[in-house]
Amino acid sequence: MTFTHTPPTVALQSLIAGQWRDASGEAYTTHYPHDNSTVSVLNAATRDDVDEAVAFAQSARLKPNWAGLKAHERSAILYRIAAGIRSQAEELAQWQRLDNGKPINETRALVASAAGTFQYFAAACETLEDTITPARGDFITMSLHEPLGVVGAITPWNSPIASEAQKIAPALAAGCAVVVKPAEITPRMAIELAKIAQQAGLPDGILSVLAGKGSVVGDQLLRHPLIKRVAFTGSTSVGLAIGKIAAEKLMPTSLELGGKSPTIICADADLDHAVAGVLFGIFSSSGESCIAGSRAFVHRRVYDEFKKRLIAATQTLRVGNPMSERTQMGPLITHSHRQSVEDYVALGLKEGGKILVGGQRPSGPEFDAGSYYLPTIFENLDNQSRTCREEIFGPVLALLPWTHEDELIAQCNDNDYGLAAGIWSQDYKTIWRIGKALQTGTVWVNTYKTFSISTPFGGVKMSGTGREKGRMSIHEYMNQKSYYWGTNDQPLPWSQS
Ligand code: NAD
Repeated sequence: MTFTHTPPTVALQSLIAGQWRDASGEAYTTHYPHDNSTVSVLNAATRDDVDEAVAFAQSARLKPNWAGLKAHERSAILYRIAAGIRSQAEELAQWQRLDNGKPINETRALVASAAGTFQYFAAACETLEDTITPARGDFITMSLHEPLGVVGAITPWNSPIASEAQKIAPALAAGCAVVVKPAEITPRMAIELAKIAQQAGLPDGILSVLAGKGSVVGDQLLRHPLIKRVAFTGSTSVGLAIGKIAAEKLMPTSLELGGKSPTIICADADLDHAVAGVLFGIFSSSGESCIAGSRAFVHRRVYDEFKKRLIAATQTLRVGNPMSERTQMGPLITHSHRQSVEDYVALGLKEGGKILVGGQRPSGPEFDAGSYYLPTIFENLDNQSRTCREEIFGPVLALLPWTHEDELIAQCNDNDYGLAAGIWSQDYKTIWRIGKALQTGTVWVNTYKTFSISTPFGGVKMSGTGREKGRMSIHEYMNQKSYYWGTNDQPLPWSQS
């Protein structure tokens, strides 16, 4: 397949009740952030579409061709989905690039990670064990797991195929049926994943994909009585609203939300490694990453040297066309999102910040139509400023000097979010002490933004609740049922009175 700058617009359909068809709502288009050309046209799903998909999923999940499968048989389907993703890896990577404008090398990595996720949960599915617990009487005690039923997955636009795989794979491994609501503006990956799953032999109705508005499709999914769990990745404001709706029906959720992650550079850090880590941590994905290391706390002893090297390295970053193999930073997702990043940069200046590099759009005809913004570094900002407290979700870094470890830790933790943190040091005792004191879901030590599907991921504080990834996350999609299995020939005591 040949890919060009402006590929022809594709018509996409939703997968509802086992059928590919136009959803019942209004037609809308999605756009390539590089040049704003129209990428796809599709109809938004409605509340009725959600009801139909969920009812069908409920009956599909109880049929013998799904409910009757043993774990190793579900696992075989997941392995075939992983193989299907790999066999179309390049097309998927190109489509994801067109959907959200990430550089092609990044979308290739996301596709590879999605295939790895299905493979991992295939293996976990057939090796997961239930427990016989130590009995404390004349009975055998067991803790067994059963699928929750029909579950919902709501995903954001920044890394669609990876976010969707992380929810769909463990849910299918658990034996659930899944209804996916991708971000309205990036529906393609969920749709392609569903096609691959069908080809892999997943029965009709076990996976549905309904694109459309969060306030309609997402809301209806959450409120539907047959939806037994929702896995959500997105902003903290929407996550909070979702948590409230879920609480009303006592429905479990996982909420993977925003972040304002600190990266700590100690005086003994390997500065070349730390510069490369900070650069990648904030500017990869154009900063549109929940774990973006957007506050860099640099020890005063190395502050000037670190700053000098970081500015020089930032100036060499290749911002440009996401189709180019050389591009490191593509455009932001939309013009309106770029406007919100620009508003934060203006706010940063008003709050006393000094721009060291960036702070504007790149110039040149190749950038005119797209929503590009240059990597931007501030200094002189107070950790209490809004620029340092709020998630910008763009390529904007604040450099903050520190001297004393206790003040450093207090500043890192003085934030509503708690998703990730990085520490650059060569002293294991310092790393251990700081790492333990940080209020965060993930600590990266002398590395940043590296991932493994086998390691649980999630946040604390306003960055969310629950964990994704890791083999035990399959249990998040299962009910735990306890058995007490009597082994005594004698009747229970009361029957003797
Ligand atoms: P968003 O919250 O606006 O949307 C996320 C999803 O929720 C979309 O599918 C959207 O349509 C849906 N939605 C919106 N309103 C809804 C409602 N009322 N009910 C149900 N669903 C609704 O987030 P976004 O702008 O798409 O993504 C960016 C955000 O996602 C950032 O805050 C980022 O930090 C966060 N994020 C977090 C992680 C993580 O793992 N912690 C990963 C990626 C992105």
